Amino acid sequence: MADIRLKHFKSVPGSFWGTPKELWGFRLKVPGRPAAAADKFLRAHADLLGIEQVATQLSPVRVIESVGASHVLLQQQHRGVAVHRGYVTVHVAHGGEVFLVKNRAIPRESLPGRGAQFTIAASDAGYLALESLGRAARNAVVRAPVRRWYPQSKRVRAAYRFRVVATKPRREWLVFVDAMTGAVLEKWDNVAHANVGARVFDPNPVTAVPDWRTLLTPSGTPRRKLDEAYRTVTLEGLKPGTRLDGTRASTRLTRERVRRTAKLDEQKSTAPGFLEVMAYYHVDRVVAYLESLGYQGRRAIFTKPVPINAHGTDEDNSWYSPELRGLYFGTGGVDDAEDAEVIVHELGHAVQDAICPDFGQTAEAAAMGEGFGDYLAASCFASRKPPALRACVMSWDAVVDGGDPPCQRRLDECVTYESFDHRPGAREHENGKIWSATLWDIWNAVGRDVADRIILESHFQLDAFTRLARGARASLDADRNLFAGSHVAALRRIFHARGIGPVE
Ligand SMILES: [Zn+2]
Repeated sequence: MADIRLKHFKSVPGSFWGTPKELWGFRLKVPGRPAAAADKFLRAHADLLGIEQVATQLSPVRVIESVGASHVLLQQQHRGVAVHRGYVTVHVAHGGEVFLVKNRAIPRESLPGRGAQFTIAASDAGYLALESLGRAARNAVVRAPVRRWYPQSKRVRAAYRFRVVATKPRREWLVFVDAMTGAVLEKWDNVAHANVGARVFDPNPVTAVPDWRTLLTPSGTPRRKLDEAYRTVTLEGLKPGTRLDGTRASTRLTRERVRRTAKLDEQKSTAPGFLEVMAYYHVDRVVAYLESLGYQGRRAIFTKPVPINAHGTDEDNSWYSPELRGLYFGTGGVDDAEDAEVIVHELGHAVQDAICPDFGQTAEAAAMGEGFGDYLAASCFASRKPPALRACVMSWDAVVDGGDPPCQRRLDECVTYESFDHRPGAREHENGKIWSATLWDIWNAVGRDVADRIILESHFQLDAFTRLARGARASLDADRNLFAGSHVAALRRIFHARGIGPVE
């Protein structure tokens, strides 16, 4: 065999078994396909990893392919039983270089000897698992047991793993029972973790207090002690798991993600997970609202959870990435995701892009993108704001900028299509005010429910290069299709007053 012994590398020590849990800082060419290369590498370095004599217990479970590498996952077996969490992963670049090994295997001397047996009958253990769950599981079914070696601090126990499932209401648990003593070693409640309470701003502190000036310190910086500004809510739509991954939103683009068990219903805006919770909660709620308008099933606007990076940059900027179809929030100034109207504005771009791919490739379409985002934010939160703030969006994001009331933009400015700046380099947010003011007029004329339905439906006949006049005509068609044209006259008046047309 060629010499595949590492000469230089770095390692991360493990905390339980006295073996390294990571080897990195090297690139070592190993011949063979990824699974074979992983096997050769592990055999050549079994002493380094503390897995002499156990390397043969590692069986490849799967090879995961990414753009730049293959990732070989191996599971440790001992006396024919899998070791709980006993995985080793070997990461192989496409050029055949191994560059990382992660090691959770238990070394031979720490594995249980002949004395460890599955002495309790599985059916008895299943009964103990069910009993440990109490009343909540009284109608539950215990699925077939799986034998596992279960590490508990530095000892490894023989254990049965049971999945316990109840319907109406749906509950699901994983329970580990010691196969010698009958003790319950671990209970994992998937559904309790799927309904998580959390504190949020809804939409932001400016709208929650009687006088926004009390939110600033004497030197004019935002106050961080904002007890009156929070609302306690339930995070909905979460899938089983430990992070904020749901059916409508996922914070998977965020680094150092918060865990659901981190007492999210007590955390303040300065806590590391607050921005992630804000983005998850508000994206989930708005997408659920779109579903309630009929955009679900085969009419769903989003076919996958909207991905979120809650700390996308340390600049004071947020954006939607059409390439990654994800939302990115900046942490410069007031953190953008502390203001739910910034979140919903960015989601507005995602909505348009999902309906009309790459929306916004002309000055007018870009302005409509900004105007729609502001409209969606204003529409979604109007009922939670005092009347004087309803036409203002992103007040908390702009609280230090000196406006009264503070806001990034208003939707009720006296602007018409005549003021549209067609020069190259014109600011789409400024131009966007013409469109947001027009949409806001519709909202005020026909009410939220009708306005949102018409405006969303109109997007399905637009494209990436659309114009305000086209958007206006699309709104008339949407009204004819949804409401038999009963708002056409009002819509015409509004577009005419804003100088947008011709509408027919
Ligand atoms: Zn925008």
